[in-house]
Amino acid sequence: MTFVLHGIGISPQVAIGKARILRSHCPSIAKQAITEAQIPQEIDRLNAALQTAHDQLNQARSSINLETSSELAGFLDAHILMLTGTTLSATPIETIKNKSVSAEWALKSHCENLIQRFNTMQDPYLRSRKLDVEQVINRVLCILLGEEASHNFESHNSHEIIVANDLTPADTLLMHDSGIAAFVTESGGALSHTAILAKNLGIPAVIGVQNASQLISENSELIIDGKTGSVLLNPCDRILQYYQDVLQRNQQQQIQLNKLVNIPCKTQSGQLVQLHANVETVDDIPNMIASGADGVGLLRTEFLFMNRESLPSEEEHFECYQAFIQALNGKPLTIRTLDLGADKTFHHQDNTSVSNPALGLRAVRLCLSDANLFEPQIRAILRASAFGPVRLMVPMFTTIQEIDSVIKIIHGQMSKLQKKKIAFNERIHIGGMIETPAAVLCLEDFAKRLDFLSIGTNDLIQYTFAIDRVDESVNYLFNPGHPAILKLLKTIISTAKKHNISVSLCGEMAGDIKYTRLLLGLGLTEFSMNPNSILTIKSQINTTNDHTIKPMIERILEQAYPREIETLLESMNCTEN
Ligand code: PEP
Ligand code: MG
Repeated sequence: MTFVLHGIGISPQVAIGKARILRSHCPSIAKQAITEAQIPQEIDRLNAALQTAHDQLNQARSSINLETSSELAGFLDAHILMLTGTTLSATPIETIKNKSVSAEWALKSHCENLIQRFNTMQDPYLRSRKLDVEQVINRVLCILLGEEASHNFESHNSHEIIVANDLTPADTLLMHDSGIAAFVTESGGALSHTAILAKNLGIPAVIGVQNASQLISENSELIIDGKTGSVLLNPCDRILQYYQDVLQRNQQQQIQLNKLVNIPCKTQSGQLVQLHANVETVDDIPNMIASGADGVGLLRTEFLFMNRESLPSEEEHFECYQAFIQALNGKPLTIRTLDLGADKTFHHQDNTSVSNPALGLRAVRLCLSDANLFEPQIRAILRASAFGPVRLMVPMFTTIQEIDSVIKIIHGQMSKLQKKKIAFNERIHIGGMIETPAAVLCLEDFAKRLDFLSIGTNDLIQYTFAIDRVDESVNYLFNPGHPAILKLLKTIISTAKKHNISVSLCGEMAGDIKYTRLLLGLGLTEFSMNPNSILTIKSQINTTNDHTIKPMIERILEQAYPREIETLLESMNCTEN
């Protein structure tokens, strides 16, 4: 009989295979007393183990293929940083000295204290980072005990589905390289690094499946449905056949989609549409070019600030943007200035005492409060604009005073560059992200001051419904198709048109095929999204008949209930042209 387990679906793919259970790696440690004479030796053992862990991770970091795994490099950097200096050694060394215990016991106690501190943190993102601490400390403990720290995936094959208590980001990469079909984990939230990485690498995965490794036995037949978050155990022939057909259809669809790469993106009545990519590092560019994207619509520069203790210098910014310009080979690049705060924090910023970081000093507010953060980035973007088609975009403008202040800073930096005879594009386009209802209500004034707009629906929805976008308990209110959001989108697009400035949409909604026709119907002609979604969205646009959808859009905009909108969207999306 088929048995279904539920969890959180991570990437919307399907996999069929045999279960391979990986037992937990957390080593069990007994308290062991040592003599006073053994203390120096125990401290040496601890330091040596920390160094070995550091070397292992450095070696893994240097063997990473940055084209597919730039995210992993960032995660490993964070783990390496924990093993640098005395962060993990100072307290255990004191414990060894004061309590005469083994290095293993001292480190394990330190780990438990740190975990307790993480558990009391209010911010769910920070709380979920305790997994990183556990993973790094477990690695060191394994070394002290002479055990293997990473799972060995070499003996596995592409029909195996890993079932584990938890997997590290490094395990996830190894699984991807060895071609394992999918994975199921018992722990881990949708914000864990492992989940983020699985999504980017396109590994079908369901996480948070309680007791999975007890309920699933070795070698049993499994189906992973990453779209619904279901794990089907011992499926009957009928279900198996259904999913085999889904797999086959997905493969054929991808082959068809790849044929669209060099075909222009336009609706049936000839309306050209630009499809741009959202990227974080220069390693994302080959994938973006392969998808036929028109350029970068959103470069999230936060990556430059993370996993480090000091702020990036102007030179570091400049070199980074130059690398993008070179890789893009003439395609446009929209650089978003720093959007830190809320769930994206960095070493320089202490958010732990802020009661509501999403409503606090984030994005442009943070930049305007700290010239050291903002001015080097502005200068670097200006300098980079001399080398290619660069636009400067500012996140989360909420008041026109913020726009005036930013423009003043940009003009100030332009004068400085002019005095030093440093080249830059004097007519560089300056745009703003529209992410708060206040910005929409004052958009006429925004549009008079800005060269372009980009709609950040992830935040616009968060701030419109007063829901924290990382809080799972209010996720049910996160609805891009809600009448309130549609009214806001309509206002933004029509105001931009009235002022003859371009408007793009770069929130997750842009890459969701469910909303493509709706957005076209609202007049959107510029989308920016995850590079993996570009061809799917292009195929939807190219088969959209603008005339057929027009009356449907009008009906959608008249609805008061989201459920009615859902039904109309479904029927509009099924319409053949
Ligand atoms: C958005 O808010 O829609 C957006 C694209 O920005 P981010 O997700 O980086 O906040
Ligand atoms: Mg945003």
